[in-house]
Amino acid sequence: MQFNHDNMTGVYLAADIVNLRARTDWSLDALEAVLRHHDIRRPELSPAAVIALRRWAVRLRAVFAAPDVETRCHAINGLLVDGAAGVYLTTHNGLRPHLHFTPDEDDVVGRIMSVTSGSLAIFTVEAEGNRLGACGRSGCLRVFVDTSRNGRRAYCSTRCSNADAVDRHRRRARHSTRHPAPAE
Ligand SMILES: [Zn+2]
Ligand SMILES: [Zn+2]
Repeated sequence: MQFNHDNMTGVYLAADIVNLRARTDWSLDALEAVLRHHDIRRPELSPAAVIALRRWAVRLRAVFAAPDVETRCHAINGLLVDGAAGVYLTTHNGLRPHLHFTPDEDDVVGRIMSVTSGSLAIFTVEAEGNRLGACGRSGCLRVFVDTSRNGRRAYCSTRCSNADAVDRHRRRARHSTRHPAPAE
């Protein structure tokens, strides 16, 4: 499945912000590094901006972890109300018409809220409500964007997928020693 690249920045940015929060090193510096990685302009953050984005990350996580399409759409609609109320079409720099979700002069928190909510909405249209997920390994709080061919991804990483397979194997082994097969 091919996704419109223009709109993917906010989707990957959303996943990275949520995953930063899943680790213990959520900090101003770590968050700014994520924003720079995604070429967010003027990424300098104040402590208040960090707090605002931490709250936003909780709401972003609900989009990835939604149990069904309806819940996901509802969660994204909530983000759009607060993040992308200023959506408009533009042809700046001679480009073909495309959507901007907020004026460029908006502060960094406003721009992140708008690009993540707008991109998640467009991605959800293109992916028919699927292809966003939370890792299936218990204890892992990471989320992922599933651009695989079959769209059946269940884990944030191969590492979690392998670890979960080992855990399941151990649980089965323990279960069968506790309940040995009856002797003939
Ligand atoms: Zn543009
Ligand atoms: Zn994981």
